Amino acid sequence: MNTLGVYISVPFCRAKCSYCNFASGVFAAGRMQQYVERVCAEVAGVRARDAALQAHLPQQVDSIYLGGGTPSLLAPQQLRQLFAQVRDAFAVSPQAEITLECAPGQITDAVLEEFVRLGVNRISFGVQSFVDQEAAAVGRLHTGQQCRAEIGRVRAAGIAEINVDLIAGLPHQTAESWRTSLEQVVDSGVPHASVYMLEVDEDSRLGNELLAGGARYHAHFVPDEDRTADLYLEACAFLDAAGIDQYEISNFARAGHASRHNCKYWQRQPYLGFGLDAHSMLLTGTGAVRFANSDDLDAYTATGAALEPQTVSRRESLEEAIFLGLRMTEGVDLEHLRNVFGRDALQACATEAETLVQEGLLHQRAGQRIRLTDRGRLLSNEVFARLIDGVPA
Ligand code: SF4
Repeated sequence: MNTLGVYISVPFCRAKCSYCNFASGVFAAGRMQQYVERVCAEVAGVRARDAALQAHLPQQVDSIYLGGGTPSLLAPQQLRQLFAQVRDAFAVSPQAEITLECAPGQITDAVLEEFVRLGVNRISFGVQSFVDQEAAAVGRLHTGQQCRAEIGRVRAAGIAEINVDLIAGLPHQTAESWRTSLEQVVDSGVPHASVYMLEVDEDSRLGNELLAGGARYHAHFVPDEDRTADLYLEACAFLDAAGIDQYEISNFARAGHASRHNCKYWQRQPYLGFGLDAHSMLLTGTGAVRFANSDDLDAYTATGAALEPQTVSRRESLEEAIFLGLRMTEGVDLEHLRNVFGRDALQACATEAETLVQEGLLHQRAGQRIRLTDRGRLLSNEVFARLIDGVPA
């Protein structure tokens, strides 16, 4: 179905978590209104974009996702302004999935009431850990008790589609404490969970400290890579046993509760992003066009700061289809890719897939559909690289 996902970035947070590598931060409250107005102008301007883009823009929006940052920090009037602008610019399906990312303990009653009025039907909570020592060590501003209460509060308001984010590899995390967080997810009855492994890179304070071998931000209490991988595997097994099945490398859901919006990214369905560092992708036959906004808040607020669109060739599209599709448990249908991209384009990939099956990194079902094994998930970058290596230019 040719539908569109709309993403809006809201980069404001009450405090910056030590592991965070997103374009987000703590800014003066006055900047929020300025920002909302810039995003509204960007949304309103979408119909004035060039004709080539219009030609590839699906007519109906079936998912809206406000991420960040902490969108729940917006005032009710600012939320109304954003949603009114989106509904004015796009035909939003009455069945659209409408998700807001929230920090536990940071949703006022007025904002929660506004969510319901605006048709928000899915909340994604950045819990990361239900264990207080772990949450505090990385600068989260909530306790496990607050997280549990917040899930109940949102559900009581009528929003049943709830996701909980967890991070494996936080400072002070042990197999026992990780089990506590996983049990809390299951006991809470939420239908969706996302489990990420701690990212160690130069874009976060904790990542920098780990790379430098220092001890600030509790870096010396971070489990090593192998233990973090074990925690992740434990989460896969534990959630699966509880009926919260893995449908993507980092995402788990009870039957029928997978995130429509997130699936668009992995299934290469079109989406438009608005706001700071927001990314977009529209399909153009067997190719695509991608574009993004600046990750500099001053530049974005001043001008909208859209970066140059990038054309995605047929070959790159095939690589993306393999790379993104294999993130999903259902995997990739090689026969479907042959039909879209041509038999020759898939030849080397299919041969390499057979080798990877023999090495235990891929499963192959029904002759054509390939998917990662548990071991393949841990070595997914290597598997992706080998599969796309032979794709002809
Ligand atoms: S992890 Fe989330 S809440 Fe924490 S600083 Fe980053 S965007 Fe904000």
